[in-house]
Order: sequence, then C-alpha cells, then structure tokens
Amino acid sequence: MRLDKLLANEGFGSRKDVKKIIKQGSVLVNGNVEKDVSKHVDPKQSEVVVNGEAIEYQEFVYVMLNKPKGVISATEDPKHKCVTDLLDSFYNKFNLFPVGRLDKDTEGLMLLTNDGDLAHRLTSPKHKVNKVYEATISGVVTDEDVQAFREGVTLEDGYLTKPAILEVDDTTDEHSWVTVTIREGKFHQIKRMFKARHHEVRFLKRLKMGALSLDYELALGEYRELSEVELEQLK
Ligand code: URA
Repeated sequence: MRLDKLLANEGFGSRKDVKKIIKQGSVLVNGNVEKDVSKHVDPKQSEVVVNGEAIEYQEFVYVMLNKPKGVISATEDPKHKCVTDLLDSFYNKFNLFPVGRLDKDTEGLMLLTNDGDLAHRLTSPKHKVNKVYEATISGVVTDEDVQAFREGVTLEDGYLTKPAILEVDDTTDEHSWVTVTIREGKFHQIKRMFKARHHEVRFLKRLKMGALSLDYELALGEYRELSEVELEQLK
C-alpha cells in the first residue's frame, strides 16, 4: 500500500495532510526517514512511526450487528439501505461485507468482516455451521411439524432440506413461538420450510451463528466489534 494512503487510512488526515507530514520527514519506515509519499509499504511487515508514534495496523475487522428490519444484507444498493450503511464511516476503509444473508424483514445477528476465509468457513455448506433463529409462526406448530423438520422438509421446488431442529416455546390458537436451528442457508429457507408445512413466518430473528451469540445489550441497528474470546471461539 502507498505510504500516503496507509497514513490517511490510519486517521492521520487527508491525503494532502499526510503528504505534508511525510515530506516534512516525520515518518519512519523500519527506522529510516521516508519522504517518498508513493513508497509502497506492507503494513503487516514494516514498522511505521509517525511523529514518534508507531501505527497499529489492523488488517481484519469483525463486527457484530443487531440487524433491524428494512435493511438489506449487502454492501451497496441503489434503492435500499444496506447493513454497511449502519456503520460509522471509520469502517469504510476496511471494506466489510456481511457473512451470509438475512432477508430484508429478518432481524438479529449479522457478522460483518473483511476476513474472507472466516466468512467462507461460516457459510460453506461443507462446514455445517448451526444457525439458530427465534420465530413467530402463524397457527399451531405441531409435533408432526417438529418431526418433519427433524427429517428434512421438502420445499415447493422439490428440494429436501437437511434435518433441522424445531422447538416450540409457546403457542396460542393463532400463533406459535419457536426456536429453529438449521445448518444450511438456502434462500428464504426457514420461511419456505414453514410454508411447506402450511404455516407462515410472521417474525424472524437470528440469535446464533456457530459459537457466536447475539449480544442482547445491542439494540436494533447497534453494533460492536467482537471480543478476542468471541473471535477465538468462532475460529
Ligand atoms: N431463513 C429465512 O427464511 N430468512 C432468513 O432471513 C434467514 C433464514
């Protein structure tokens, strides 16, 4: 990365400001004054010191967001607000993207990162990562529905889902409150599984993804970076 870009990214000012700092001789790269603003430095390998202060370069960032309804799990969209639009502009330079998808009307746990390997591990069907959701379902969810989820449900298009765990937490004549655990991430999967069982999903919220649980302290639309412990457990 160019030295001026690195310093601008690290918050030392605009590209113009940091060029001035570099030309003044205030920047050391591996102990030597570097006045070439276009010098390419690898921030993972080199020690860069600005006015006596070593920069702490962070390559990967992991953010947990409590996704609200009405926001789409994408990084750019001409019409809709995206999950990345909820983050402070500080995060722009990291090019974060959402790990997996939630429907526009689904709430809850969304991980945003720029760590492609971790994202792949969490979303690839090969790794069979559990995703846990709470849902409000139309009608009374029965033991037959629970059994059908356990065996895999044949969707309208003929696809037989992998076994899923359906737990009924409460019911009235009109609604059931359930917890669903799936290991796949097909498009509208939970909605289509209930549809195949003649129910409708009225509310859906993701609570867990592998070892990562939604922090209940986060209100809808709020986010925070993962702790070291959370990251270790996830890797
Ligand atoms: N299943 C769905 O139907 N929607 C989601 O957003 C996630 C899982």
